[in-house]
Amino acid sequence: MFIADIAPSTISVITTYRCTAACEDCCFECSPSIDKTLTYDEIREFIISASKEYPSIKLIVFTGGECFILKEKLFALISMCTEMGFITRCVTNAYWAKNLLRARDYCQKLVDAGLGELNISTGVSHQKYVTHQTIVNAAKALLEFGIPTLITVETDSESSSCFKRLRAESIIQEEFEKESPGIKIQINSWVRFDKKNEVRQAEQTVSSLNYGCDNLFDTVVVTPDKEIAACCGITMSHIDEMNLGHMSQVENYGKQIDDFLKIWIKTEGAFQILKHLGASQNKLKTINHPCQACAILHKDKEIKEVLINNYSEHVVRVLNKVKLQELKG
Ligand code: SF4
Ligand code: SF4
Repeated sequence: MFIADIAPSTISVITTYRCTAACEDCCFECSPSIDKTLTYDEIREFIISASKEYPSIKLIVFTGGECFILKEKLFALISMCTEMGFITRCVTNAYWAKNLLRARDYCQKLVDAGLGELNISTGVSHQKYVTHQTIVNAAKALLEFGIPTLITVETDSESSSCFKRLRAESIIQEEFEKESPGIKIQINSWVRFDKKNEVRQAEQTVSSLNYGCDNLFDTVVVTPDKEIAACCGITMSHIDEMNLGHMSQVENYGKQIDDFLKIWIKTEGAFQILKHLGASQNKLKTINHPCQACAILHKDKEIKEVLINNYSEHVVRVLNKVKLQELKG
């Protein structure tokens, strides 16, 4: 039987489900009223044990919720990772940059701790809590301190233009004129979890639906529920198969070696699998993110039955594809 190569490059620490914002459609339903948070010691011990178990680890990501809520503990954890030789990344809504002086103070601490990269999430839902000007302040301070930054903007609604407005800021325009800009900006497809909210993406236009999932077997995730997850996809908390047990059992991540469905998702992507299984157009047309397809694949009773009865027809083709991908490197 085929065995997958499990050599993850990344540990992703979902430090807390608490957040300074409460964006509609947040995938973990984070908000200021949620308390679930990993402690400093729990995070520290997990990073040490997971990186020992998987020597292939190179990058440690701190995310949430809002990881900056950990304040000094976050800076201490980044310093520890830097001393251990890892690259680090924080994912934040940038609430800490409301005032430029404070933003500079945070950036100084990030530089002192050796942070490798900062990712900022923003867009029309986020900006109800963290304003456009706060994001501009963060960009300014991060550029001054030379911290490589990626700003991810939600797909705009028909009435919003957060991406255009950010792109038009003089500080961003000047940076983009340089040969190697210190800031990148990208648009992310925004998934509507609450059906009352507006759909913000033309149906079936998302190219990521055509590819396999890079996250599987590459990112060891630990959650504020003190559990290990197989990926940090936006629907992972709704998919039981992504839960790999208590955070003390880091070896469970490596036990996925013969999980054919995960190998298949990694190779062709959940959306393409749904197509192979003959999912109806009605089901397919509602999907604009690979993780939505993944949730349907694991949770839709009809699809699950077709999967169980027919997966064996796909084993040889998928495993051949894996071997070909390995040969191409
Ligand atoms: S900022 Fe991010 S984590 Fe916080 S509520 Fe919004 S989407 Fe969720
Ligand atoms: S597609 Fe599935 S396996 Fe991949 S990140 Fe999304 S939920 Fe996780």
